[in-house]
Amino acid sequence: MPPGSERSQRLLCVRRHLVSRGFGDGSALWQLLAQFVCGYRDIDLRDATGLGHGRLIACHARPSTRRRWVPRLLIGELAGIAITEPHGGSRVIETRTSAVLSADGYLLVSGRKCWISRLNEAAVFVVFFRDPDGRLAAAPVDAEDLGLRRTELPPSGLAGWSWGVLDLDGVRVHPDDILVGDGMLLLRNHFATYRPWVAATALGGAAAVFDSVTTILATRNIDRIRDNALITIGRTHAQLATALLGCAVAEHLASAGDCSAEIWGAATKAHGVDIAHQATVELALLAGAAGFRADSQIAKTRRDLAGLLFADGIHDSLYRSAGKHYTNASLIELAAPKELPDVETPGRISAAG
Ligand SMILES: Cc1cc2nc3c(=O)[nH]c(=O)nc-3n(C[C@H](O)[C@H](O)[C@H](O)COP(=O)(O)OP(=O)(O)OC[C@H]3O[C@@H](n4cnc5c(N)ncnc54)[C@H](O)[C@@H]3O)c2cc1C
Repeated sequence: MPPGSERSQRLLCVRRHLVSRGFGDGSALWQLLAQFVCGYRDIDLRDATGLGHGRLIACHARPSTRRRWVPRLLIGELAGIAITEPHGGSRVIETRTSAVLSADGYLLVSGRKCWISRLNEAAVFVVFFRDPDGRLAAAPVDAEDLGLRRTELPPSGLAGWSWGVLDLDGVRVHPDDILVGDGMLLLRNHFATYRPWVAATALGGAAAVFDSVTTILATRNIDRIRDNALITIGRTHAQLATALLGCAVAEHLASAGDCSAEIWGAATKAHGVDIAHQATVELALLAGAAGFRADSQIAKTRRDLAGLLFADGIHDSLYRSAGKHYTNASLIELAAPKELPDVETPGRISAAG
């Protein structure tokens, strides 16, 4: 694919095409498998189907807000998410972006969000901020709002969407647009579902590398494939398959509202992406120097997987959360995703709201 905005325009076309054929919204497990298939084709296709972060709006916005955004997402527009701040994305609790109440009753939100993906392509951002009472809240913000300023940064992978800093300067948010529920619980519930999708995308990318490398080895004119290569292939196949099964379990727990879903989502994202990344590094060596060409899909997948080691939660933080959960009985209660006042039940989400 071509670089830059031409590539992101093509990706948006693919998304519009697929959602117009009914791939805009399915069950969480269906989405997981769709992510694997999309990752297999190209990790840049990770938003080709489904609502992505727009699921937060579909599940937790009031009906009028949902009616404004969900139909647009279902015809192929894209939702971004703005959580991370310069002090560190792994410490959401320290969010500094905040809102003040204006004379006309709107909230004016100001702050800086960094490392934001879909910076120029998103039609809406779900922004996390402190409400005037200091509580963590989230609301959809129209990407065309005049209070938004973008500073693009070149990523070293995952370059299908633009990426960078999103500054908010007095962005107007109607109080009715604030998503229903405590911001931290919204975030934790969302990522319980979303993180297994990320891992499945990564595993799809690694599965494609697996298939390319095994095809190269099987068709190369060599007398005998060496044992080290056979062992790597046997091991990575089992690792990729079992990591994907782990993602399916995590997704099932999230769909069922199980109290361990958040921890499963966190750990399977870290584990799935780690496995995909490590498998790709090892398999790439078996393909020889051809896999190091910048324009090879193997090299691109390695760059994209390196980005997924950070995006949607950095791994030591995710493993640490799981470790805390399993060693501290009093935290088990805290880690459980609480019942949120879902405006829409999970499953297919109607555009009508
Ligand atoms: C390609 C890409 C796309 C992204 N897209 C988005 C997006 O769309 N929206 C969004 O909001 N964010 C996005 N991010 C940000 C991503 O979620 C964050 O990078 C991630 O959450 C980690 O945050 P950070 O980079 O600020 O690292 P930090 O939080 O600064 O962490 C860096 C390291 O310091 C460690 N650390 C933290 N606290 C301590 C401590 N007290 N003691 C010791 N070590 C500590 C962490 O565990 C980690 O190892 C994206 C990132 C990338 C790379």
